[in-house]
Amino acid sequence: MSEEIQVMDSNTEVLLEKGKKDGADTIWDRKAAMKTPCGFGEKGICCRICAMGPCRISPTKDKGAQKGLCGATADTIVARNFARMVAAGTAAHSDHARDIAHVLYMASEDGNYKVKDAGKLMNLAKEWDIKTENRDLYDIAHEVAETALNEFGKPFGTLKFLKRAPYQRQQVWSEQKIEPRAIDREVTSLMHSTHIGCASDPDSIFELSMRTALSDGWGGSMIGTELSDILFGTPTACATQANLGVIEKNMVNILLHGHDPSFSEMMVYASEDPELVKLAKENGADGINLVGMCCTGNEITMRHGVRIAGNFYQQELAIITGAIEAAIVDVQCIFPALADLSDLYHTKFIATSPKAKITGAEYIEFVEEKALETCKGIIKEAVLNFKNRDMENVLIPDNKSHANVGYSVETIIQCLDRVVNSYTDEFNTVKPLADVIWAGVLRGAAGIVGCNNPKVRYDESHITIMKELIKNDVIVVASGCAAQAAAKAGLMTMEAKELCGRGLKEVCERVGIPPVLHMGSCVDISRILDIVSRVAKEKDLDNRDLPVVGAAPEWMSEKAVAIGTYVVASGIDTFLGITPQVTGSEYFVDLLTNRVEENVGAKFYFEENPTECARKILERIEEKREKLGI
Ligand code: SF4
Ligand code: SF4
Repeated sequence: MSEEIQVMDSNTEVLLEKGKKDGADTIWDRKAAMKTPCGFGEKGICCRICAMGPCRISPTKDKGAQKGLCGATADTIVARNFARMVAAGTAAHSDHARDIAHVLYMASEDGNYKVKDAGKLMNLAKEWDIKTENRDLYDIAHEVAETALNEFGKPFGTLKFLKRAPYQRQQVWSEQKIEPRAIDREVTSLMHSTHIGCASDPDSIFELSMRTALSDGWGGSMIGTELSDILFGTPTACATQANLGVIEKNMVNILLHGHDPSFSEMMVYASEDPELVKLAKENGADGINLVGMCCTGNEITMRHGVRIAGNFYQQELAIITGAIEAAIVDVQCIFPALADLSDLYHTKFIATSPKAKITGAEYIEFVEEKALETCKGIIKEAVLNFKNRDMENVLIPDNKSHANVGYSVETIIQCLDRVVNSYTDEFNTVKPLADVIWAGVLRGAAGIVGCNNPKVRYDESHITIMKELIKNDVIVVASGCAAQAAAKAGLMTMEAKELCGRGLKEVCERVGIPPVLHMGSCVDISRILDIVSRVAKEKDLDNRDLPVVGAAPEWMSEKAVAIGTYVVASGIDTFLGITPQVTGSEYFVDLLTNRVEENVGAKFYFEENPTECARKILERIEEKREKLGI
């Protein structure tokens, strides 16, 4: 066990202590065992994309190897490595979205999957010029799904959702030649360009990376979010709780972890099945307690208020409570370490996706055609496992916080309608938000997203930055594990308005919202793009002009690299609390943190100190305000 336990949550400390006694190996231990990370990897200057390598470039100029065997410089290698992270991140989000499009394609009136938000379906059909008059709802749904599926590999044109951006932004993309065409095509092209002997110019590699990342934000992720809302319902504000204290001593606890809402939605229905609840009671439990983790946790809390067990770093801790009957996973962000860890307890670790079979996990394939039946079978396994729990070895920490979640763009707009002046203004717009920003009541807005990372104290960067921003009248929207950090810290409650500056407090009171709004999972960052673009359009401006920033204080995944890149390419400055593995090329660092602004009007900031990061965000917001003359 690492002696340097880097946590800010007492639940974590308590469970790490228990894990130590139980002989559990956690990320904290593995981090300690890793010792100092490889300096070449850390700087992004090792390359193994061909079998002449691996090659590594000396971090010292004029000393040691300055080029790989093929002649690639540090600038090329760094740019290529970064690009491949973007490609992988885009692929992950987009493949997730493709599955949801397939599910919409198979939705039917009497099937497991139905259209829940017909209004949203109709709006999207209209947006995509799909005929709706005198047509069966499911015919429309299937055509929308097919159109979405074509976005992945259509041979001509550019992505449909690009038109949602302000026209000024569309112009930037066109001038920079970074308009994404088809999603899979961009991923493939980027992998091609970064093959040995293809692109070596770092600027061009980064342009291609932006085009690919845009195919995520304005393609895969946006399709994923829109179609999930159509199928599972557009989130509305609801109350929930967050942190490991939501695990219940006398219930069958099922931990759902991963990303795919087609799976988790069905698990929610299956867990409510009266027969299964009865079975749980017959087995000595009070009932079934489904709790969520990471983005699956976000999806089901946004739509059903299912309680959040925790974020990325708590996946092991949940099992260490000794009270999880089954940890059920689909794709992405699942520690393979959960297999060995579950063996220490009675927990059944069940993998369900053919895309993410995990060594040591039981595998029950989730088949969409038999969705409810499969999910009921999985829940039954968990229920029957309750009797195997060692009650003597259960420790569920008390901490849990209340949180209000479910802030889709539609819900935010509904909340804003509460303060519309009905004499002069229309309902159902973002004008009230733009107005308070222009009046200076709110100084700006920040989207705080991303993961946990052992390079920084767990959750601390998220919370420090959020608190500092709301104190200074910057409203925060959050997604992914950052949102869960906020929920655990109580920042998603109405009471959190007391932590805000006067302006934001007033807005929270009048509009009836918490100062940190949960906007969903990582693919739901497309909701953030949507709302920012609506505010920009309201003022006939580009995103780049708005006092708005993005931040990923504790990011770790390739998906986060794709997200950061599409946010910058969308004209929104992005603050990274973890420096990406690019510092082996001063040229590339300068491109990301400086020169890219000339091309797309936004750039990256690397700042690992959260207080300093918040200061820089506030400074940048004021700079933008000054430029606007507001
Ligand atoms: S592509 Fe070039 S730098 Fe990379 S491993 Fe091959 S020879 Fe080395
Ligand atoms: S925020 Fe990061 S760790 Fe959390 S689910 Fe998303 S990608 Fe995974």
